[in-house]
Amino acid sequence: MISKTNGSEPFKLVSREFKPDKSIVKFGDIEIGSNEFIVMAGPCSVETREQILETAQAVKAAGARILRGGAFKPRTSPYDFQGLEEEGLKLLAEARRATGLPIITEVLSSEDVELVAEYADILQVGARNMQNFKLLKRLGRAQRPVMLKRGMSSTIREFLMAAEYIAFHGNSRIILCERGIRTFETATRNTLDLAMVPVLDELSHLPVIVDPSHGTGKRKLVMPMAKAAVAVGADGLIVEVHPCPEKAWSDGQQSLSLDEFASLMEQIRPYAALEGKRIAATEPGPLRLEPMAFGQGASAQV
Ligand code: PEP
Ligand code: MN
Repeated sequence: MISKTNGSEPFKLVSREFKPDKSIVKFGDIEIGSNEFIVMAGPCSVETREQILETAQAVKAAGARILRGGAFKPRTSPYDFQGLEEEGLKLLAEARRATGLPIITEVLSSEDVELVAEYADILQVGARNMQNFKLLKRLGRAQRPVMLKRGMSSTIREFLMAAEYIAFHGNSRIILCERGIRTFETATRNTLDLAMVPVLDELSHLPVIVDPSHGTGKRKLVMPMAKAAVAVGADGLIVEVHPCPEKAWSDGQQSLSLDEFASLMEQIRPYAALEGKRIAATEPGPLRLEPMAFGQGASAQV
């Protein structure tokens, strides 16, 4: 499957050969890779104070443990919204203060690592940057866990070698994220390669998170693929959620509404229990003035 050099894997520090026991990435009271199934949720991009605060409160109430939100956005078009940058980081920090949820956000370049690490609890490397070796080396020196997303045309060997860069340069707190790869298929935005979850588990001790939002590109497919991710043994999910997906500044077509996300959390609970994993309890939700009916906008495309 993976070519070997001198009888061992080409990657060392991240391999099961090097460390047979599964790694648990710990920070605060969170343990990724343990028997708690960790859900990270939030908008693709941080847009406004109201948007991020409302989303943070709602995803926390539904059982999410980590808030996601992009402040530096890797957009295919230079004309698209590029993110609020430091202002977005400040809004994320405010949402963390309001909810207690730690935050994960993308760092686009090695020059930004110091700034993003001042605010973020987990540094996300996007699919487009998986082989940005300068960034990976710099993240090796960062004092924060890193979530590395699989490049859209990357093999598992390349993925693990990218993780190896971070480990080799000094940071062992690495989380892998399967977010789908580019194939000939056009019915979905990407092909979510769920078979890689057990493959990664065999080859590496690092925890694995699945992203059913970018993995499918379609709101309706997020729920079934989230269930499947639990069933194949993922350690958690990262899900895009927006108070009004139709109006999202990025990735609205794959974002769940707040109510749809609450429903997803309820529906994956029995799957997690079957796998021997627990999911954080729900809490009384914040009162919303105009609660959205479940399913509203479920087929809207942006
Ligand atoms: C994102 O998480 O919003 C993102 C840009 O993901 P990816 O790098 O997987 O495309
Ligand atoms: Mn996105």
